[in-house]
Amino acid sequence: MYINGRDCIFCRIVNGATEGYIVFEDDVSMAFLDIRPIFPGHCLIVPKEHYETLIDLPDELIGKIFKNAKLIAHAVEIGLKAEGSFVAINNRISQSVLHLHIHIVPRNRNDGLKGFFWPRNKYKDEKEILEVQSIIRASIEEVIGREKEKSL
Ligand code: AMP
Repeated sequence: MYINGRDCIFCRIVNGATEGYIVFEDDVSMAFLDIRPIFPGHCLIVPKEHYETLIDLPDELIGKIFKNAKLIAHAVEIGLKAEGSFVAINNRISQSVLHLHIHIVPRNRNDGLKGFFWPRNKYKDEKEILEVQSIIRASIEEVIGREKEKSL
């Protein structure tokens, strides 16, 4: 998927040309596991359309995408039994993929993450990736169910 002459890995995942461990999708966004996670369960949520940075994102998409980021953060906390989460966006500096993405990382007290140094890890094997993917998918359904109950 060439955007401005560049191949975009996240456009490829959105379009199904490259495999992604997808946990959520709606009409405007997609969330999938980060392949080199800070901690297992680290997700990225991206707009389906290619926008490089938050600054480029049209205002009308902000509400929906941020609501989905809230859903994924909640689900990641529940699914990974995390005490909290870290939600972040790199704009240009430290941004290695020039397709806007929101990092959602499960966090716990004393988990070793300090400041802005982001140590990366690898999943043990594909089995672990698929397990984490299915846990987060189930938690997303749980959160959606809870929200529905609240609104009744
Ligand atoms: P950033 O450095 O903020 O631009 O984050 C880009 C993220 O994309 C990094 O955390 C990478 O591990 C992640 N990443 C790169 N390629 C893939 C891929 N094919 N599938 C999932 N995550 C990826």
